[in-house]
Amino acid sequence: MRVPAFDSSIPDVLIAGGGNAALCAAIVAARAGAQVLLVERAPKSYRGGNTRHTRNMRVAHDAANEILTGPYPVAEFWDDLLRVTKGRTNEELAQLTLEQSSELWDFLWAQGVRYQPSLGGTLSLGRTNAFFLGGGRTMLNALYHTAEDLGVAIRYDTTLVDLAIHDGHFEHAVLEHDGQRETVPAQSFIAASGGFEANLEWLIEAWGPAARNFIIRGTPYNRGEVLRLLLDAGVAQVADAKQGHAVAIDGRAPKFDGGIVTRLDCVPFGIVLNNHAERFYDEGEDFWPKRYAIWGRLVADQPDQVGHVIIDEKSIRLFMPSVFDPVTADTIEELATQIGLDPEAVRASIDAFNTACQPGHFDHTTHDDCATEGLTPPKSHWARPIDTPPFYAYTLRPGITFTYLGVQVDRQARMQMANGQPADNLYAAGEIMAGNVLGEGYLAGIGMTIGSVFGRLAGASAAEHRSQR
Ligand SMILES: Cc1cc2nc3c(=O)[nH]c(=O)nc-3n(C[C@H](O)[C@H](O)[C@H](O)COP(=O)(O)OP(=O)(O)OC[C@H]3O[C@@H](n4cnc5c(N)ncnc54)[C@H](O)[C@@H]3O)c2cc1C
Repeated sequence: MRVPAFDSSIPDVLIAGGGNAALCAAIVAARAGAQVLLVERAPKSYRGGNTRHTRNMRVAHDAANEILTGPYPVAEFWDDLLRVTKGRTNEELAQLTLEQSSELWDFLWAQGVRYQPSLGGTLSLGRTNAFFLGGGRTMLNALYHTAEDLGVAIRYDTTLVDLAIHDGHFEHAVLEHDGQRETVPAQSFIAASGGFEANLEWLIEAWGPAARNFIIRGTPYNRGEVLRLLLDAGVAQVADAKQGHAVAIDGRAPKFDGGIVTRLDCVPFGIVLNNHAERFYDEGEDFWPKRYAIWGRLVADQPDQVGHVIIDEKSIRLFMPSVFDPVTADTIEELATQIGLDPEAVRASIDAFNTACQPGHFDHTTHDDCATEGLTPPKSHWARPIDTPPFYAYTLRPGITFTYLGVQVDRQARMQMANGQPADNLYAAGEIMAGNVLGEGYLAGIGMTIGSVFGRLAGASAAEHRSQR
């Protein structure tokens, strides 16, 4: 199909995406004197992808400041990253990310972003993570205002649907707005369009039919077409399609965009049954912030991709209140019926658990000595008989946060081609290249760190590419 050409002057830098990575890139490129066009698929009111849902960013720093409660040296950040990724990271790019993270506080401040002390119940991140005053949405508004002031052209409701790339050289993109297509050439291209987490067909390809029951915690707009186009054009791939961040969330969350409020923190205080009323993992293995990210996968492996947390009156006030009320009943059998499980099977699982609980001193702030004995799987801590009505149940589903399959980049955020050559004028930042740093696992707040560090690099490299012409 012949597509009409973009009617204004050719931008130096074309950026696909409207979240943190795209905005950091746009601001840096514009400050370097480049003419920037940013295309955001979402309407203005939903601009900003998954960044809208964020609250904080992990940053290395040598000393406490007015908000961060203590130092977080690069070396400690490095140890944390190696632990969660089990070493599956590009060490050069990971080091670069952590070192440059120490500049982000000041960089974002200079773009109008403000910070606040960490909130209670936020996974104890007050020392390591900078919380955005007003959350991710307010942070984004500041970045958009700055970008607009710098003359960045922003087009909403505009989807990048095709790319012309030959031997690693970007020529033009095809954009779609209101059913109309146009070609837009540019000196260079930055992909900051997120992962493929909102593309159910692609998730099914990776996970099988189980993915139909996944809930997407963030934007419905990150469907991964740009990623697919880049891989098809010969850009090298990083990470595999099943890697990503997934947590167990309230099964009543909306299919997309439920955000952080649908997280449930009650698992360590009860037991979790699958649809056959069987336990399948140690609910008390460790503190919830250290374990919540594995429960998305655990639930994904259960029949119908469902788990049911059952707790009793003793525990209902021990965790952050849920956004939806739990199912409540005075007897276990009644509760089981309400959540659609076989009452006798649930009773048997609860009885087996209650009998296995050993006497101990319950303390949810430490790894206490309340454990089960002779039970498979065991419950290692916080194991107390579920015997005090009323009883409560929450249904869990896997909630996908974002995927790691992406494009390979170098220290300048330049894409690398599968033939081993660097691309000429193709750059990437954010989720679409996060797999370079995150081969697996996750460290709270590092998604935004990666986006900002590589957004800045991509913006600077793209502007530099133009000035070399
Ligand atoms: C509920 C939730 C809470 C989170 N909390 C945190 C947190 O506190 N800290 C943290 O570090 N991380 C957090 N994350 C992860 C974080 O959101 C991401 O790592 C980060 O926002 C990624 O930024 P990005 O710019 O790469 O992608 P996004 O912010 O998702 O932006 C991608 C953009 O690309 C656009 N787009 C997609 N396809 C196209 C196309 N074809 N054409 C044009 N535009 C397109 C989308 O509309 C969107 O604007 C959270 C995620 C979720 C879902």
